[in-house]
Amino acid sequence: MSSQFDVLKMARQQLAIAAQYLDLDEGLHKVLAHPQRALVVNFPVVMDDGTVEVFEGYRVQHNASRGPTKGGIRYHPHVDLNETSALAMWMTWKCAVVNIPYGGAKGGVRVDTKRLSKREIEKLTRRFTSDISSMIGERSDIPAPDIGTNAQVMSWIMDTMSMSAGYTTPGVVTGKPVELGGSEGRVEATGRGVVVALEEAAKVRNLDLGNMKVAVQGFGNVGSTAALLVEEAGGTVVAVSDATGGIYNPEGLPIRELSTRFSGREGGIREFKNAEKVSNSELLELDCDVLIPAAISGQITEENAGRIKAGLIVEGANGPCTPAADVILNDSGKLIVPDILANAGGVIVSYFEWVQDLQNFFWEEDEVNKRLTRIMRASYASVDSTMRAHKTDMRNAALIIGVKRVADATIKRGIFP
Ligand code: NAD
Repeated sequence: MSSQFDVLKMARQQLAIAAQYLDLDEGLHKVLAHPQRALVVNFPVVMDDGTVEVFEGYRVQHNASRGPTKGGIRYHPHVDLNETSALAMWMTWKCAVVNIPYGGAKGGVRVDTKRLSKREIEKLTRRFTSDISSMIGERSDIPAPDIGTNAQVMSWIMDTMSMSAGYTTPGVVTGKPVELGGSEGRVEATGRGVVVALEEAAKVRNLDLGNMKVAVQGFGNVGSTAALLVEEAGGTVVAVSDATGGIYNPEGLPIRELSTRFSGREGGIREFKNAEKVSNSELLELDCDVLIPAAISGQITEENAGRIKAGLIVEGANGPCTPAADVILNDSGKLIVPDILANAGGVIVSYFEWVQDLQNFFWEEDEVNKRLTRIMRASYASVDSTMRAHKTDMRNAALIIGVKRVADATIKRGIFP
């Protein structure tokens, strides 16, 4: 769980390694190690039974050197300022790795949405949006969905911002329903990008996705789409899980059936009979070729890294492997396609959505998917060649590219005043 270790420390350790490779100026390193802005809000919500509850929420902007900041909003009981800051920093590198003109941000509310009615989630969202409205905006900082939030939550954010503007402002948030200025292909974008990254990794390693056994931790937006696309590409998904645990069948699971019949509520997939029940930690250690962690951070640690059997780990989630786990996995010859590359599909299509909103001109899904695939492939190739040039691992190669782009922009802009 993210709260059990210091994710911001982990993000800073990763930055420090890249900074050494880049021989980054000490002052610049200090600038990049801190978020530019962070807002903490404690806000009340009148619950359905008339009582008042106070929730803590955050919006953090890490770095705006390359453009407006961009990053998801997470509703989860473990959200805190430390985690939100780390996620904002990763967003900065992610946007830079895939070369889209954004800086990084992140937001969240510490809440267990399973305890709330739909009406309460709407009120919480509207009040939180209002309280962080001084930070977000279509030219300044654009939120998107993350764990625990979805297109409906984005609609409420857009509507709340539009009410105070006095006119509809679709560009203020991405991941909206298509009817409200969302983009075709956005819902599937992160999972689709994960699978493009997996295909590229397979090519480089001379492997055939059709012969691969894949385990996916987390069967939400990212995990279920990735699993479905792996299945469509001829791969065998042997295990999937959600927060309540997972299911395993070495012969393969029927992903389409699972996502239509059993998903949509926690624990649903575990009702599927033709599979063995496994815990989330057992899933990580199953006999498979590819592991896609697509749930939360800090899942693969020093403790369990030595028992991971998959040769290829494609990070759908943000921060699933700790730095100590990275060392163990890299030393044993495993390839980790890092989060800031592997799960960048979401922010790439969010960028497309924002461009479409600002222009009021909308693209067809095919166009979105083609452009997404092109950017993912080109980004993969540049990370792969940086990895070889610096004789380093893939995470560090991606960071070298991302940090360098942000550092260059910061130097060119200069430090105000
Ligand atoms: P989601 O809320 O749709 O799904 C999360 C899934 O993880 C659910 O199946 C949930 O049951 C499961 N889960 C939660 N806690 C767990 C635990 N302790 N152990 C195992 N499983 C657990 O969220 P999502 O949008 O699919 O995001 C998943 C990950 O991908 C997150 O790390 C998120 O930051 C990252 N990500 C998401 C996007 C996006 O566009 N949605 C983009 C980039 C990265």
